Amino acid sequence: MTMDTSKPGFASVAFTNGYEFTQGSGYALPEYPFTVPPELTAAEPSATTALRRYPVVVIGAGITGLTLAAALAQYGVQTVLLDEDNTVGVKGASSRGICYAQKTLEIFKRLGIYERIAAKGIQWSVGRTFAGDDEVYAFDLRQQQTHSLSLEPPFINIQQFYIEGYLVERIMALNTDAGPQADGQPLVDLRWSNRVTALSQDGEAAAIDVDTPAGAYRLQAAHVVDCTGSRSPVREWVGATATRRRGDDRWCIADVRFKDTPPVERHTWIQAPFNEGRAVWQHLMGDGVWRIDYQMPPDADPAEISREDVVRARLNAQFRRELSQEDCQIVWVGPYAYRSECLNAFRHGRVFFAGDAAHVFSPFGARGGNSGVQDADNLAWKLAAVLHGRAAEALLQSYHEERHEAGLHNMLTTNRTTRFLRPADGPERLFRDATLGLARQHAFARQLVNTGRMSTPNIYTQSNACDETGGHATQNVRLAWADGSQGELLDLLRWAGGRLLLLAFGPLSEVAAQALPALAMDADVRCVQVMASGERAQAAEHIRDVQGHVRSTCRLHAPESDLAWALLRPDGYLVATGTALDARLIHALERGLGTRDTTRAMVRGQTRIDR
Ligand SMILES: Cc1cc2nc3c(=O)[nH]c(=O)nc-3n(C[C@H](O)[C@H](O)[C@H](O)COP(=O)(O)OP(=O)(O)OC[C@H]3O[C@@H](n4cnc5c(N)ncnc54)[C@H](O)[C@@H]3O)c2cc1C
Repeated sequence: MTMDTSKPGFASVAFTNGYEFTQGSGYALPEYPFTVPPELTAAEPSATTALRRYPVVVIGAGITGLTLAAALAQYGVQTVLLDEDNTVGVKGASSRGICYAQKTLEIFKRLGIYERIAAKGIQWSVGRTFAGDDEVYAFDLRQQQTHSLSLEPPFINIQQFYIEGYLVERIMALNTDAGPQADGQPLVDLRWSNRVTALSQDGEAAAIDVDTPAGAYRLQAAHVVDCTGSRSPVREWVGATATRRRGDDRWCIADVRFKDTPPVERHTWIQAPFNEGRAVWQHLMGDGVWRIDYQMPPDADPAEISREDVVRARLNAQFRRELSQEDCQIVWVGPYAYRSECLNAFRHGRVFFAGDAAHVFSPFGARGGNSGVQDADNLAWKLAAVLHGRAAEALLQSYHEERHEAGLHNMLTTNRTTRFLRPADGPERLFRDATLGLARQHAFARQLVNTGRMSTPNIYTQSNACDETGGHATQNVRLAWADGSQGELLDLLRWAGGRLLLLAFGPLSEVAAQALPALAMDADVRCVQVMASGERAQAAEHIRDVQGHVRSTCRLHAPESDLAWALLRPDGYLVATGTALDARLIHALERGLGTRDTTRAMVRGQTRIDR
């Protein structure tokens, strides 16, 4: 049933993007209908119906919440997704994110929306940095080792709301495929115009109060994920604390379309002569729209700097001529400011924090949305494994261990960039200006020019779910199936269906070849033999690694003639690697499942593994 969302009683939706200010107009966003939730359709809901309890409730359908819900749906977990708004993006405000990194693109490929992103977005790998009129630094990400093996490009630029829209449609498709669940609800019950107003939790469940245009209701959840962005009300409800840094840096975005397009490269000016010596960013995104982002004085008035004539004057100064309406069409203008913070704990009992609700970074390096997507991907398989009874509750704690470490690292990295772009007077400014001076002439100083260290997958060193050989992300590399046709590592992860994936490389002894199927049954892990060219298949499930990329991305450096293994998680991270099918592998399985006792008992009882 759909209803008129203008019914009094549901206060109008505030902008919740959480940045100190963002405003603007010009993008038409889709609007989704409000549907009366089942809690409000029962004849006498509060008197006769026990509170409905769901395995997972996600609050906030931004890029993080939508990614999480889509990933949970792929793992077959029923989810309620609540959002106070009725659209993607932030209504009337900034398009915000534009730059999506390789790891995020790999996640989107696994979720089934990558092709749409690639078709709409712009691929780029070349970045150039200028100080004044001089180019001081250039890079081509395709030539950098960290990006070289994946089938996905280093980055795609696309407006954030497109990704969110694709995720909404993907969730609808997954719902259709899955059909109604046992309680008659869809796999992902995406409830627009449902604002969460309170949350409490005890040993039994979390209770969530929700306000809607049709009235208020309450539901319960075994697990709650807060994806409400950086103004999260949930933080206060659970008493979460954060480490913060607030700056006075101000920026103003002009999203524009040119008649004659500049080169498809990211250009950054640290001291732009056409912007009173302040920084400027310029890159292309979907629909032929260029994002030009101008650093403003700290006391800039948002209304003044975003006036059309003022924006046009800035553009004219940059392109050194009077740009007519036809030369340059302004699509959208958005002044913004940011802050930087990271919660001290990403888990409070049944409540997990993800995306901007867990951490807020300055936009330099494109780490905000990208890390929200990676938070969601990290948590989804763990929740699914626990809810499906494949892993122990203990595994969930590794979400905090891993993503909090990532959050702190991202905060540190983006704060360094912020200080480079807006140094404090004194030693910071001296260092920045000296670096720029040296970079004009010396290669070594170019490494110190910091206009944003672009988002790469974080390494987990603090996690109980990985050992010291694991904690690294693999890339989506090419492989060959047994029949010689081409495949990719993501296909294998999808095939593993939310289970751990054991890749055994090199010739296997007879005992080891027999141990793999037994291990698969006992420990609920998928096992695959990975053969180099010329090796013979000894296990039922096998692939060929003709170019050696699977071996490389698994960080196995032993000669091809030697046995080696890599244990991968559904998010593509390595739990551990090893060189013999021995007790270390068993320990790795225990770590990856958070089930030390169970796994050990299962394997001790039934499977003997050796070389
Ligand atoms: C100018 C700018 C440029 C950026 N560029 C990039 C970039 O290139 N790449 C990148 O990765 N990141 C970028 N970012 C950061 C990125 O936009 C954010 O990190 C990202 O939007 C966070 O997503 P989220 O889903 O966690 O939160 P949000 O996008 O803030 O979503 C939160 C959702 O929760 C809902 N909500 C809030 N409160 C409630 C409630 N009480 N009940 C129910 N629902 C609620 C809201 O309606 C909203 O839909 C940029 C940010 C800015 C400002």
